[in-house]
Amino acid sequence: MADKNFQLHDQVEMKKPHACQTNLWEIIRMGMDIKIKCVKCDQIVMMPRREFTRKMRRVVVHHED
Ligand SMILES: [Zn+2]
Repeated sequence: MADKNFQLHDQVEMKKPHACQTNLWEIIRMGMDIKIKCVKCDQIVMMPRREFTRKMRRVVVHHED
């Protein structure tokens, strides 16, 4: 089962790659909505937490506190 325990500044892979062909995003805000930034082109996408959990495939890099 994929690791879906995510936290701020983790880098995650989504089920659908970004238009720039990159599939690595950094979580830059967490709350009712999740804000993620494409690590390649810096585009920012915001979506409700429930939607994010559904669209996220796995955590690639865990942020160390
Ligand atoms: Zn991108």
